[in-house]
Amino acid sequence: MPGFEIFGDEEKKEVQDVLDNGVLMRYGFDPIRNGHHKALELEKDLANKMQTKYAQVVSSGTAALSVALACAEIGAGDEVIMPTFTFVASFEAILSVGAVPVLCDIDDTLTLDPKAVDAAITPKTKAIMPVHMCGSMADLGAIKDICDKHNLILLEDACQAIGGSYDGKPLGSYGDLGCFSFDYVKTVTCGEGGGIITNSEKYADRAHMYHDHGHDHIGNDRGAESHPFLGYNYRISELNAAVGIAQLRKLDSTIATQEKNYTILKNALQEISEVTYRRVPKTGIESYAFLNIFLPTEDLARKAHKALGAHGVDACFYWFDNNWHYYKKWEHLLEQKSLSKLSEEVRSGLQKNNRSFEASDAWMGRTVSCLIKLNWTEAEVTERGTKMVEAIKSVL
Ligand SMILES: *Cc1c(COP(=O)(O)O)cnc(C)c1O
Repeated sequence: MPGFEIFGDEEKKEVQDVLDNGVLMRYGFDPIRNGHHKALELEKDLANKMQTKYAQVVSSGTAALSVALACAEIGAGDEVIMPTFTFVASFEAILSVGAVPVLCDIDDTLTLDPKAVDAAITPKTKAIMPVHMCGSMADLGAIKDICDKHNLILLEDACQAIGGSYDGKPLGSYGDLGCFSFDYVKTVTCGEGGGIITNSEKYADRAHMYHDHGHDHIGNDRGAESHPFLGYNYRISELNAAVGIAQLRKLDSTIATQEKNYTILKNALQEISEVTYRRVPKTGIESYAFLNIFLPTEDLARKAHKALGAHGVDACFYWFDNNWHYYKKWEHLLEQKSLSKLSEEVRSGLQKNNRSFEASDAWMGRTVSCLIKLNWTEAEVTERGTKMVEAIKSVL
């Protein structure tokens, strides 16, 4: 998954363009920027690649989610349904606009279970945020039906699945809004950065203003721009955007490499009948960022994860015990440890999350995810597959 593995001359050239004229800001300074608009160029490339009408690049994936929620007018007291397995950024973004993150069970797709989503809807629900964790997606068709029925926004967090697709559409482009992260460990990296894609002119127009203090970007005098509504600063710098341009150009070859390495490892594991795989919905194609496997029990998954490490198979994760990705270890959220005072509405809304999520525990307890890297030689992947088989067999 990490785009930093393939950092090369292409990235350096794009960054050098920016350094040559010294304009690190995406707006203004036209006379001296020598025609370089890296953030704008990255937006055009991203929209083009994702087959959407619009793209807005921002300072991070978390910022992308916050901006997307704000564009959809989600705010004080509104509820947003999100999965128990995701990165902490999901609830951070929801809280940042004053809304309430409502946790919801996952299924064998390792993201939102449509039945659990349906049961979690209340009159306060405004949006559903499936998170395409570890390279694959939920049953998006079923979730979209729920959104249509209840008039809800479908916001896809595709931060870990850029390059995958559902129903022939790039992940992120299926819902009303889709978000990407271009942080340092993602498939496409800017160092730090994020992106929002949409086909809605209204959301796109709001996004460029909201992410830059509400400036309307009309005319050539920044100081004379008006501000139709409140905003924040979620801008990306030209240096970061420049890296992203070179990285995004490599996306197809990156996904092809991930698929090749993933397939070698999966084929190797086929000889172990006790190992099963995360379900990918029928019309979905993974980005192959991770190989996600189920062991028969939680105990065996824990042991297999340990054995993989002991056999020298690095970059495998047991998310169930992870502080960043699974609700059980989000005590700061569950205990409402906020520096500033949370509103009563948010405080009481958050209480909903203090319950058990047995279906999630059952799936995550058995899951081990192995990161797919880009720089492995074929011999290294083959050897890795052999070691994975040895490690897992040793605990069965
Ligand atoms: C990385 C990530 C984010 C946040 O992205 P940042 O750019 O690090 O802020 C959000 N959601 C998921 C699923 C992620 O993996």
